[in-house]
Amino acid sequence: MSERSRDHKDALGELERKVLEEYPRLGPSDKFQFSCHAGVKCFNKCCSDVNIVLTPYDVLRMKNRLGITSSEFLDKYALLPVNKEMKTPMVLLRMNEDEDKTCQFLTKEGCGIYNDRPWPCRMYPLGMAAQKDTEDGWRGDRFYFLLQEKGCMGFEEQKSWKVDEWLESQGLDEYEEWGEAFKELTLHEVFEDDEAELSPEKMHMLFTACYDLDKFRKFVFESTLLQRFEIDEDFVHEMRCDDEALLRFAYLWLRFSLFGEKTVKVKQHVAEAFKGSVEKKKLFTKEPA
Ligand code: SF4
Ligand code: SF4
Repeated sequence: MSERSRDHKDALGELERKVLEEYPRLGPSDKFQFSCHAGVKCFNKCCSDVNIVLTPYDVLRMKNRLGITSSEFLDKYALLPVNKEMKTPMVLLRMNEDEDKTCQFLTKEGCGIYNDRPWPCRMYPLGMAAQKDTEDGWRGDRFYFLLQEKGCMGFEEQKSWKVDEWLESQGLDEYEEWGEAFKELTLHEVFEDDEAELSPEKMHMLFTACYDLDKFRKFVFESTLLQRFEIDEDFVHEMRCDDEALLRFAYLWLRFSLFGEKTVKVKQHVAEAFKGSVEKKKLFTKEPA
C-alpha cells in the first residue's frame, strides 16, 4: 500500500472511530436546527471540491434527468478510483477542472439537477452510520449524526427539524429501499473475511450491472440469459424499458452470480442438462462487456 493510500485509510478509520465513539447519535424524532437557501451567505459554497460517492440509483436518476446513456454519464460526470483495498467498485461525482473544482451541476440559482441530486447532497447536514460489530451489523444499530462542515452557516438559521421530517422533505424515502438493496451486495457477509476479494471479471460484472445499466440491458437481452433463467414475462417486458426494473433485476442477478444466493431460478431443463457437470457460475456463456 502506498503512503498516500495508507494515510487516506487512516483518515477514514479515524473518522469512523469518531463517528462511532464521539458524535452524538440522533434517532428519527431528535431535533436539529438548520436551513439552506439562496439567502445564506455561504450559498453554493459547499458544491465545490467535494467527494460525493454515487450509488447505482443516483446514477440512474442523474443520467435519466440528463437524457443520456449510463456510459455517457460515466464518461463525463464520474471518476472511477481504483485501489487494491476496494472490495467493490466506487463511483465518484467528477468536479469541473476549474480552480475551485466546482460541481458540474452547479448554477447561480443552486443545484441544476435539484430533484435528482445524489443521496449525499440530499442527506446533508445529516450523516448515517451503523455499528457493524453488533449482531445485526448495518441492519440493526443504525443512527444519524450531524455533519457540521466548516463555513456552513445553515446552522445559524432558526428553522428546526426532526430527523424524520428532514429525510421526508429531501425525498430520501425512495432512496432508502435502493440503499438497502445495494448494501446487500457491498456489505455482503462474504466480505467479512478480510482476505475475500472479487476477481477482476466479477468486479467488472458488478460495476456494469450496477452503474452501466444501458450496457447491462444489452447483456440481458442479447445474451442467452433469458433462455436460461425463469423470469416472469411481465418483468422482462418492464426491464426492457424501465431502468428501475432493470436495476432490481441487476441486484438479484448479482447476488446469484457473485455469491451463489438463490435469487434467480435456473430453468429446469438447463439445470438438468448441466447437473453434476458444470458449476452454476459456468452457466454464463457471456459476461457483460
Ligand atoms: S449535485 Fe447539486 S447539490 Fe450536489 S454538489 Fe452538485 S450542485 Fe451541489
Ligand atoms: S454551506 Fe451549508 S448553508 Fe451554505 S449552501 Fe452549503 S449546505 Fe447550505
